[in-house]
Amino acid sequence: MKYKAYTLENFREIRQINQLEEELLFDIEVVAHVLPFKVNNYVVDELIDWSDPVNDPIFRMTFPQRDMLKPEHYAAIAVLIKSGADRGIVRQEANRIRLQLNPHPAKQLEKNIPVLEGVKLRGLQHKYRETLLFFPIKGQTCHAYCTFCFRWPQFVGMNKLKIAMSRSEELIEYLKRHSEITDLLITGGDPLIMKTRFIRMIFDKINSANLRNLINIRIGSKALSYWPYRFLEDDDAEDLLELFREVNQKGRRLAFMAHFNHQKELNTKSAREAVKRILSTGSIIRSQAPILRNINDKPAIWQKMWKKQVRMGIIPYYMFVPRNTGAQHYFATPLVKIWEIFKEAYQQVSGLCRTVRGPIMSADPGKIQILGVDQVKGEKVIALQFIQGRNPDWVMRPFFARYDEKAVWRTQLVPAFDRDKFFYEEDLSNG
Ligand SMILES: *Cc1c(COP(=O)(O)O)cnc(C)c1O
Ligand code: SF4
Repeated sequence: MKYKAYTLENFREIRQINQLEEELLFDIEVVAHVLPFKVNNYVVDELIDWSDPVNDPIFRMTFPQRDMLKPEHYAAIAVLIKSGADRGIVRQEANRIRLQLNPHPAKQLEKNIPVLEGVKLRGLQHKYRETLLFFPIKGQTCHAYCTFCFRWPQFVGMNKLKIAMSRSEELIEYLKRHSEITDLLITGGDPLIMKTRFIRMIFDKINSANLRNLINIRIGSKALSYWPYRFLEDDDAEDLLELFREVNQKGRRLAFMAHFNHQKELNTKSAREAVKRILSTGSIIRSQAPILRNINDKPAIWQKMWKKQVRMGIIPYYMFVPRNTGAQHYFATPLVKIWEIFKEAYQQVSGLCRTVRGPIMSADPGKIQILGVDQVKGEKVIALQFIQGRNPDWVMRPFFARYDEKAVWRTQLVPAFDRDKFFYEEDLSNG
């Protein structure tokens, strides 16, 4: 199949879209001026159920909805469009709004950027000791965009907000000097938007660099959901699979970090075939996703998805809490409710699905797991723990917040038992 993308400019060409009311199309237009919007013919023709698009999880995942902007932001853009304001002015207003949407949660721009001989390596993030994130410049877009994406600043053309690296020499040099790194995670956007020959250039450099400590090359990608033809009939699909095979044959492991939000994404013939092909290269596929209100906030959705994944040979890995960025107000569910959904889903599956960990807030101090709710000597509390920390010593130490049925993010939690700080806070503000 030939890839065809739809964006703000041409989405009215989508045949099925004309069944929607004009009002909804206008909403799409308004929101898409601020948050990135892109879908493609695979998502439109094979994933979305057009008999009831407005209630379809994949439609909500890819098509902007009015409430994804706060009312005042929506109104500001809507007025400009209706008055026929020119593009420059709309863009200026959109940029002003974007800066209010916390474009870099978890302090990504300030705190995780490594330095090599005094130079900041802006395309890398090294937050957890063992794992280095690499953002190749050609991989900073996706086959379609998720409306809940926390990497959205990568796509909106505001260069100051972007993280990316064009040369892999610095990457290699950094890996050489940091023998504690066992995992390289190539991420984006979606690195599999890149042609295989560019990916091969990166892999060749890694291979010739004698990096003895490096065990896993991870690729974070949503191509299995948004463009499975990347592994089937694209021109360089075979080369890509061959490249994966070579990694595994040379003694490292290619770990494919897939992103599935709903079991519907696993149902198409092409997605199933693509999974088989990736597994046939000796690679491992793990899956992770955020839990999103109106899209996948039901235990049944998660347990079905995990079971289906295990049946297909995919290992469930993380369930995330949506981050405090972009349209978080639209997708957020209270932490204690998310924990209940996770618990109920987890209780219904066998141990082979229970490789999944969650619910997890990927936040400034680290990856924080919500362990559950309990009452301790009359005080209702939420138990939490780090499964990754800026400081590795924080990991696996339980800590307790006061019960809060409304909190949607860690910053809204306060310590339980009359403590004035969580145990890691002093250390965090010093670091
Ligand atoms: C999640 C994450 C990783 C990977 O962590 P694992 O627990 O090893 O999967 C690495 N770096 C950052 C910044 C992350 O958020
Ligand atoms: S595929 Fe990932 S990076 Fe791309 S839009 Fe979706 S969440 Fe964001």
